[in-house]
Amino acid sequence: METGSKAASLKIEDATLIGRNGRWTIAVQNGLIVEVAPAITTEASQIINANGNLVIPGLVDPHLHLDKALLLEQCPAKEGDFQEALEETFSLKRNFTIEDIQARARRVLESEIAFGTTATRSHVEVDPVLKLTSIKALLPLKKEYAWGLTLQLAVFAQEGITNQPGTEALLREAMAMGGDVIGSAPYTDSDPEQNIWIVFDIAQEFDCDVDFHLDFLDDDAPLLLPFVASETIKRGWQNRVCLGHMTRLAGLFPADLKAMGALLRDAGISVLALPASDLYMIARKDTHNIRRGIAPIQQLIELGVNGAIATNNIQNLFTPFGDGDPLKICTLIAQTLQLGTTASHEQCLEMATTRAIGIHNYGIAPGKAADLVIVEARSASEAIGAAPTGRMTIKRGRVVSQTSVQRTLTRG
Ligand SMILES: [Zn+2]
Repeated sequence: METGSKAASLKIEDATLIGRNGRWTIAVQNGLIVEVAPAITTEASQIINANGNLVIPGLVDPHLHLDKALLLEQCPAKEGDFQEALEETFSLKRNFTIEDIQARARRVLESEIAFGTTATRSHVEVDPVLKLTSIKALLPLKKEYAWGLTLQLAVFAQEGITNQPGTEALLREAMAMGGDVIGSAPYTDSDPEQNIWIVFDIAQEFDCDVDFHLDFLDDDAPLLLPFVASETIKRGWQNRVCLGHMTRLAGLFPADLKAMGALLRDAGISVLALPASDLYMIARKDTHNIRRGIAPIQQLIELGVNGAIATNNIQNLFTPFGDGDPLKICTLIAQTLQLGTTASHEQCLEMATTRAIGIHNYGIAPGKAADLVIVEARSASEAIGAAPTGRMTIKRGRVVSQTSVQRTLTRG
């Protein structure tokens, strides 16, 4: 493919776009969208006919655990509860090898690309058992899969920091090796506030974004969100902090949610709902009328907070389901938050694309990255309704995956 020539390297014709009537053509050159118009006469070295299907920015999966994905074969559930997931996964980590992590991670990454994911953030566990095995396994995959997706690595203390001697030094080592983001799960630490302090200290040392698993358990402990919000502002880390789960927000009365929404908005903190995991794990002590416990992401967006969604765990003890398809998570969030309007479905697609964290220059407009997915659907509602199998993934203007269904009906 020529670079620097005036011809567009790729044209996608007959595309349906969200928020625009009629059919559109998208012209791409040197990995960037250069024009979006009903018809573009400029020549292109490759023309794709979208046949009226929906073209959206590449899906983003901003909260994924590549190192502990696809573990059910090694460790099937006996109890199926959170305690077992924490304990058994921790002990399983003793046997993790670089090759084993990479083999499972590759399967997930390839599925993600085929589903249309062009950017993802994976947490990378660091603790005294696993030490740096996970970061050593996943760092090379950033380059190996750059053709299909942008992989960001969030160095992650799943097991706590102050209660796991040696972890703090290992976190710094992992960041020095090439981690992009720092994070932790303060609920596993005997001193959650100190845990949060340490994570912010490391973020400042390495000038990186912060990503916490926060306010997740359905206990009566005070929310940690106000502490994180005030620390974010104190450290000048606005628009650099993201909180995953936040299921406790689902249990707040509207006035309290509004107050928490204001804290999040003023600190520029993004919230990620992880409905596949949270529906499975939350409210296990409820004997009837079991709560859903999904962060009320749409209400947060209405309050001016940036909200997005992600898959989190895939087929392990924390979530024995999933295939790494952010579009199916859109369907799930729409169902669980009872979102039925066209506008809310379009917003769900934003939660899985332009509203995601860790991405830049995303959208369908001139100058934006040509990270796109063509979905075999005519509208956001159709895409959300059934997460169609037929998809084409385009990364930086290059087709990197095509999936279609071959169906044969044998009539009698
Ligand atoms: Zn997670």
